[in-house]
Amino acid sequence: MTSPRTLEQHITRLAFNLRWIWDEDTRRLFEDMAPEVWARTRHNPVAVLRQADGTKLDDLLRDPAYVARIQEAYGGLERYLSSSETWFATQRAPKDTLIAYFSAEYGLAECLPIYAGGLGVLAGDHLKSASDLGVPLVGVGLLYRHGYFRQQVDESGWQQERYDPNDFESMPLLRVTRDDGRTLKVCVRFPGRDVYAQVWRAEVGRVSLYLLDTDVPENDPRDREITGQLYGGDLETRIQQELILGIGGYRALEALGLEPTVYHMNEGHSAFLALEEIGRAMRQGERSLGEALAAVAPHLVFTTHTPVAAGHDYFPPELMGRYFGEYAADMGVSMGELLGLGRRNPEDASEYFCMTVLALRTAGHSNGVSELHGEVSREMWRCLWPDRTGGEVPIGHVTNGVHLPTWIAPELASMYDEHVGNGWRTGLIEGSSWSGIEEVPDEKLWAAHERERRELVEFVRGRLREQLERHGASEAEVAAASGLLDPSCLTVGFARRFATYKRATLLFRDTDRLARILNHPERPIQIVFAGKAHPRDEGGKALIQQIEWLARDERFHGRIVFVEDYDLDVARHLVRGADVWLNNPKRPLEASGTSGMKAAANGVLNLSTLDGWWDEAWRSAESRGATIGWAIGSGESYDDEEYQAAVESEVLYELLECQVAPLFYERGEAGVPHIWVGLMKASIRAVPSEFNTNRMVKEYTERAYLPGVSALAE
Ligand SMILES: *Cc1c(COP(=O)(O)O)cnc(C)c1O
Repeated sequence: MTSPRTLEQHITRLAFNLRWIWDEDTRRLFEDMAPEVWARTRHNPVAVLRQADGTKLDDLLRDPAYVARIQEAYGGLERYLSSSETWFATQRAPKDTLIAYFSAEYGLAECLPIYAGGLGVLAGDHLKSASDLGVPLVGVGLLYRHGYFRQQVDESGWQQERYDPNDFESMPLLRVTRDDGRTLKVCVRFPGRDVYAQVWRAEVGRVSLYLLDTDVPENDPRDREITGQLYGGDLETRIQQELILGIGGYRALEALGLEPTVYHMNEGHSAFLALEEIGRAMRQGERSLGEALAAVAPHLVFTTHTPVAAGHDYFPPELMGRYFGEYAADMGVSMGELLGLGRRNPEDASEYFCMTVLALRTAGHSNGVSELHGEVSREMWRCLWPDRTGGEVPIGHVTNGVHLPTWIAPELASMYDEHVGNGWRTGLIEGSSWSGIEEVPDEKLWAAHERERRELVEFVRGRLREQLERHGASEAEVAAASGLLDPSCLTVGFARRFATYKRATLLFRDTDRLARILNHPERPIQIVFAGKAHPRDEGGKALIQQIEWLARDERFHGRIVFVEDYDLDVARHLVRGADVWLNNPKRPLEASGTSGMKAAANGVLNLSTLDGWWDEAWRSAESRGATIGWAIGSGESYDDEEYQAAVESEVLYELLECQVAPLFYERGEAGVPHIWVGLMKASIRAVPSEFNTNRMVKEYTERAYLPGVSALAE
């Protein structure tokens, strides 16, 4: 018999290690403990423990069945944490290998809202795979008091932003203390003052994520707000956040006694850490700036994530001067030399300081996030290497992936375990064994998928009811939302940030034609939209409004819906329950994209322009004679955007009408669309085997991390 005290310790440990994100049994343990608290707190197990009814909790801890589930889950976590049979263990890496991964956002769980979109979700999935593979890695980021905003759409269809304060004490986070028990704090010099940050730790399986928070009493009120919002505030807030992330984060690891062998900058936001590395190399080795640059390069890894200009940080020289005047002197370089590291033309004193340029000039390994994006990045930054030809620019690519155990629906996951083997979870098998998916009977795969679609429809109805209630709709109107959408209708999912290049409304160029397609008497289609526009992006908000209005238009009623507050939870439902995942960015502006990978891993078929990861997946399948979905166009790009949109929307209508819908509704015995299921299997065979973060983290380890570690040994 385990004592209640021990059980409580076990369950607390289960709540604080984020491995529950990808362990369904542990999730259910908390959900069952207090379903209503679980839902209200966006699936936060720590809040469940704090807020669950004490009597009920005591009862549960006396219920043998529930106790057995706790023991089972706890045993699973312990085995996971202590296992030495990992992919990394087979790599013969030096013992002191430690990778420090820096990112401004992490999308791990919906109850930890410190992410805005794909960049954060990728960083979260990177940590989870590093944990599964046993790669010795720690994450560094910022802990935002207000996180990213929560989206509500008002009655006029306009996006409203709500910033709920996070209560860190009731989140799966631990305050980091020093040996003497006091809170660990790091200090970064700002103009005329010191700014302090305390450090929190999230446990992600075997990996620790350290998050810096400037909301401490030592700071003046303005500085307490530095980590207030993700991507909020002005340029000065941005440079302050990046100082805390890059330099504060670097010093936090040092204060913790950690000695990273490699620093990985996920996007340019954290690139100031390179200055910290260089400064130390100069002081410790009495090196010149040039010598220090050469010495640190092998230890710095940089991933660039976007070819869109607005996605790169630029700081005016005057602002840099204020924040880095003293810093340059401490490093032993002139301000001009420091600024030169972030300029395309170091001689041009008027040029803004660019974080991407700083990262590219200092990192020994730089990469884009898909094959196409690698090419685009080499072209975009070739000015930094004037004596090299395009192909010689030292920017490679490591194609993004997704963490499969997080994104695959539990029912499908067990099916894969049975037919593919469970190596896809641990990274210990390679792609070919995914061919086992062909053994799954069509009826079985289809039935599982239909259950996911039904769940999606229920989920969307619930969200729409909440929205209507908030708008003060009548009871009858709210009740009517329960009949919206059809659980057996061909369902298209479209969810992403409302950035202009993603062209959310490409589908609406000819609304009459669209209405005919969606309302086809035998082959109807319904579309579920979700996504946030940046708070200052009026254009993006106008797109959302356009969708909201169409959703209310008679012609599209019940055929088009917009779900508010796109987050990991909404994403999870959509990528499991849709039939088709629509993506129509303007090539080549989508560096990779990852939502389509999540969809494909669940048997959802992609319908996308040949951009980012899909360009790669599509061409690779084509070369093997496999069809895994649909390509909108064949990768051509026109200078005239308007013309391109006209051509591509035409192709899109044609595909939906003449290929997608007919195939979906062509049913064999027992209502199973065999050709469609054949495509699902081809896509499951081709996509998750390749486009997953285990493969991605292995590539980073082999090509960037381990070479950096051995350079240190020399
Ligand atoms: C996966 C994901 C994204 C990124 O999807 P893209 O295809 O890259 O746009 C953004 N937000 C959330 C919540 C996600 O889960």
